[in-house]
Amino acid sequence: MDISILYKMSYGVYILAVMDGDRPTGCVANSAMQITVEPPTVAVSINKDNFSNECIRKAKKFSLSILHEACDPSIIGSFGFSSGKDTDKFDAFGFEMVDGVPVVKDSIGAIILELKDSMETSTHTVFLGEMVDGVTFNKEEPMTYAYYHNVLKGKTGKNAPTYRGEEDDGEDITSKKKHAFKCRICGYIEETDFDELPEDYKCPICKKDRTYFEKLY
Ligand code: FE
Repeated sequence: MDISILYKMSYGVYILAVMDGDRPTGCVANSAMQITVEPPTVAVSINKDNFSNECIRKAKKFSLSILHEACDPSIIGSFGFSSGKDTDKFDAFGFEMVDGVPVVKDSIGAIILELKDSMETSTHTVFLGEMVDGVTFNKEEPMTYAYYHNVLKGKTGKNAPTYRGEEDDGEDITSKKKHAFKCRICGYIEETDFDELPEDYKCPICKKDRTYFEKLY
């Protein structure tokens, strides 16, 4: 079966946030959609290996912050490529509490959801949340998943429902610079005509320094 037609589906880029006891945590979610108006209900698919998955079950309330095209891409790097179990992902980014749930300030706004139901698939849980509150921070352009891939050159984390396996790990070089370096954490590829990255270089997605980069050519 050729599943490549699936790659043509459209998605947004969201930060799912939830309380782990008295500490905010969260992860990147791209498979989220509104499924009813009355009551307003949203479905989101989260990998069973994600720490946020068990936090949603315990807290029974979570938020989806809608990222915009101009947001700091390291938000995605931090929430998408490290585990909330051992990192305080909100440390570096502004957040505020709405109805007892953390939301990301550098977003268009957030939907606050109360857990109503869930469905298990082999690898992911689909959580159904009923909207109980919403906040709007600005009128920026929502980030689509295509924008994240094509403009920010971002990669898909292994836990994402839309992960494409080796194709997402692959070295899809788009320009013809002399050299390319790949971030071992988030997969971002930096192309340059110089044969090494500057000493103070930081990955634009996950903010790791140049020692985390391997030279592709
Ligand atoms: Fe990186």
